[in-house]
Amino acid sequence: MKFFVTAAFAALAFASAASAESWPAEWSAPQAPFHIAGNTYYVGTRDLAVYLITSPKGDVLIDGALADTVPQIEKNIAALGFKLSNIKLIVNTHAHFDHAAGIARLKKDSGAKFDASAADRPILETGTISFGPTASTHYPPVKVDHVVRDGETVGVGDIKLTAHLTPGHTPGCTSWTWNETENGKTYRVIDICSVSVAGNPLVNNTAYPQIVDDYRASIAKLKAMHADVFLAPHAGFYDPQGKLAARKTGGPNPFVDPSTLQNFMAKAEAAFDTELARQQAAAKP
Ligand SMILES: [Zn+2]
Repeated sequence: MKFFVTAAFAALAFASAASAESWPAEWSAPQAPFHIAGNTYYVGTRDLAVYLITSPKGDVLIDGALADTVPQIEKNIAALGFKLSNIKLIVNTHAHFDHAAGIARLKKDSGAKFDASAADRPILETGTISFGPTASTHYPPVKVDHVVRDGETVGVGDIKLTAHLTPGHTPGCTSWTWNETENGKTYRVIDICSVSVAGNPLVNNTAYPQIVDDYRASIAKLKAMHADVFLAPHAGFYDPQGKLAARKTGGPNPFVDPSTLQNFMAKAEAAFDTELARQQAAAKP
């Protein structure tokens, strides 16, 4: 599973040195933008997902990738024929630097508002998280204009994104859902906030004592949800390259697959249990 390899690699890379040289090359490698479904497009790097959702009244951007990759994101948006200044709202899955470091500049360049959860707000507004493998990696802080609550719907024009707080990976980790219509069918899209452990301390985490309970509740919550289109902050979680190849052969949209969320969550839960057991065993005197 590429998803776990990527997560494990990232955790190892951060544990040794949190410098620009230590993160996976696919995080900053360029990726041509592509259509997912309805008015939803991928405008991120090879592995760091950034989603653009468009409407006649303005667009929404989810996540911002790295500070250094902002020019790539802006170029991708232009390549699709959309204007940066049409982005009226930016939201975030979680406040780790690989998804949030580019937001400050994207916000400035577009003039968009930025909405985020209360628990990730202090991380975003300081560019600093106090625990985990990215604790020494500071990024450009970004002001949160509006705090989203669990179940709240935000958006622009007829774009309606619902925030689902799924904490654990970060304290304010937020999964987003919205609807897209294509060929007369309406699909529920989810951009899941990560539920991987990715080097987070689960035992004796004084900065985030309820981390295990939060992960468990978020896993249960996501398992109970339905999505026709599964998206995530890392492309490696859902193999868009394979789907793009499949699309070339024609047939139904390969990004539509109502089984992906449940399959992903089953693997994510098993990986969480394994890592929790490993950390608990390692913490025993
Ligand atoms: Zn993360």
